[in-house]
Order: sequence, then structure tokens, then C-alpha cells
Amino acid sequence: MSNELRDLYQEVIIDHGRHPRNFFILANATQIKEGFNPLCGDRITIYIHEDQQQISDISFQGCGCAISMASASLMTEYLKGKSIAQAKIIFQHFHDMIMKGNKDADLGKLLVLSGVAEYPARVKCATLAWHSLLAAIENDPNPITTE
Ligand code: ZN
Repeated sequence: MSNELRDLYQEVIIDHGRHPRNFFILANATQIKEGFNPLCGDRITIYIHEDQQQISDISFQGCGCAISMASASLMTEYLKGKSIAQAKIIFQHFHDMIMKGNKDADLGKLLVLSGVAEYPARVKCATLAWHSLLAAIENDPNPITTE
């Protein structure tokens, strides 16, 4: 990746970190899940309104580092309107990208986070919102922590 592109990617992350999208409590949420990353102190709650096996609305609240906020923000933008089945596949592709640096899947804007794969200490920041999302749509009653 050229330095120019890398800088551009970082700009998107910084923008979403400072001005997270869909950052509110969803009043009519059907699923709510909080996740915690003790390594960094990131704390994120995901709100989903599921309607006919579809994510008709999604939002989040919380506080944490720029990577965790940007990842949650980009995730909500990307998953709004997707089916639950699609969301599970996207989770797997995103997870492979962050954990293994695998960029084969077309993840659109989410690709800006692919650089995180090179920084193992930030992997849990980037995946926190996603683990909370998966637990929410699978109705997992256990607390979500990246440890
Ligand atoms: Zn973090």
C-alpha cells in the first residue's frame, strides 16, 4: 500500500473515531449487548433492531480508543439493512481480515481497518464491537470481554 493510501485510510479512522456515526441509544432495540476490552479500557454497547431476520436499525454507545470507536462506527454503517445471515458472514470476513490480514473479501469501507492486522495490540480494539454484535444476534447471554 502506498503511503498516500495509508494516510487516507488513517483519515477515515480518525474521522469516525472523533465523530462516530449511529452513536446513540436505540429506543426500540430488540437486542442490546455490552462488550469490554480490559486491555485498552474500551467499552461498547451495541443496539440492534431486528425485524424479520434483518438488521433494520443498529447503533452503539460507549467510550474507548479511536480504533474501537471507528470500528464500531463503520460496522453500524455497513450492517444497517443487512440480514442476520449476511451479518454473520461479514463478521467472519472482518475477523479474518483483522486476525490474518486476509483482504480477499469485498468489505468496502471496512477495509480501512485492515492495517490493524499489523498491530496485534490493537486487534482487540478493532474486534470488540464485532464480538458484541455477534453475541447480540446470537442471543448469547454471557458477558462479552475480549480477555
Ligand atoms: Zn482500544
